[in-house]
Amino acid sequence: MSDQHQNLAIIGHVDHGKSTLVGRLLYETGSVPEHVIEQHREEAEEKGKGGFEFAYVMDNLAEERERGVTIDIAHQEFSTDAYDFTIVDCPGHRDFVKNMITGASQADNAVLVVAADDGVAPQTQEHVFLARTLGIDELIIGINKMDIVDYEESTYDEVVEEVNQLLKQVQFNTDDASFIPISAFEGDNIAEESDNTPWYDGEILLEALNDLPEPEPPTDAPLRLPIQDVYTISGIGTVPVGRIETGILNTGDNVSFQPSDVGGEVKTIEMHHEEVPKAEPGDNVGFNVRGIGKDDIRRGDVCGPADDPPSVAETFQAQIVVMQHPSVITAGYTPVFHAHTAQVACTIESIDKKMDPSSGEVAEENPDFIQAGDAAVVTIRPQKPLSIEPSSEIPELGSFAIRDMGQTIAAGKVLSVDEK
Ligand code: GDP
Repeated sequence: MSDQHQNLAIIGHVDHGKSTLVGRLLYETGSVPEHVIEQHREEAEEKGKGGFEFAYVMDNLAEERERGVTIDIAHQEFSTDAYDFTIVDCPGHRDFVKNMITGASQADNAVLVVAADDGVAPQTQEHVFLARTLGIDELIIGINKMDIVDYEESTYDEVVEEVNQLLKQVQFNTDDASFIPISAFEGDNIAEESDNTPWYDGEILLEALNDLPEPEPPTDAPLRLPIQDVYTISGIGTVPVGRIETGILNTGDNVSFQPSDVGGEVKTIEMHHEEVPKAEPGDNVGFNVRGIGKDDIRRGDVCGPADDPPSVAETFQAQIVVMQHPSVITAGYTPVFHAHTAQVACTIESIDKKMDPSSGEVAEENPDFIQAGDAAVVTIRPQKPLSIEPSSEIPELGSFAIRDMGQTIAAGKVLSVDEK
């Protein structure tokens, strides 16, 4: 047990073994509910398959997931010697790309799962692009299903080389990436060194998780609280609710809501149905502000200190990575931007630079268009007021997803904001 917390993303192509790996981590760290293990140990023994509890636990997780009942691998928690981990999301199941960006599930680090028998696949590329764009610090790369390739060192080396090429392509610092041959299903190199890979003498997965750098504490940034919903509660009045991304909210504080541009004094703060005097990053709160009515503020507003209010962009410059687009993106394109709790149509006013992903250098000034796979610096004009912050100052409020036709087209980070 530990009090250091890490948000961990498990990323990788569909069917490469993400769910199985999460199940394995929960199992090895004793985090699967005891009754689930017990039930399956009994079943396994009845069927003369003692020692097969893991497979049964996984079947159970899969079944429950299919029935949509209880255990989903997102939001599962497990502890190692060094950290308490929360699995923030698992791509492939839901709209990971959007979730990862809209703040609700910011990951500090990630485990990339690549099946040894399949190698780098389309979603491997997409997720690595995103991890890079969104500032994931370190990647642990589990080359999974080593049992299927007879634990061959040469196969492992080939896949490592493929992934290294991909990391270089997206400019991910390969010093921040560590590779481990694993089998999530058989349990090789997860909690114990495997006899099946005598040629490997690096860290096993739980050691690598313990050795992740500590996440940066976000507390010295000013208060930023994106508003999720606004309720009217009898006896109290107007109650905006949301999750504190940065800073501290105290009763008695003078706050400002942007872009609605109203403010007042915080009267009460409520968390888990109890009144509290203050709340901090990660806390989901409902609160009440003197003089603010239900129609004064809305979802997508950001609450901050009156003397350091959230920025409202007239235009902003951002670095984006285009993931998929049926044709090309040119100046004038106006898709919907999703940033924290806001959804606002924004026009890509100019494409300022196209970057060479392999060198990070400017490849072309003022290109006519960009397309899938391109990284670019663009200037964006929101069609309605939007509160957003430079990623270098407040990363929690500095990234966004661009959506169009029901798909995520691109993801980006804000470089600078021009206020009204
Ligand atoms: P996800 O889509 O990435 O979450 O992949 P799953 O965890 O659902 O795994 C896909 C399939 O691969 C399932 O049938 C798993 O049992 C199987 N699988 C996952 N990991 C391993 C492994 O290490 N070895 C073998 N042989 N099969 C695995």
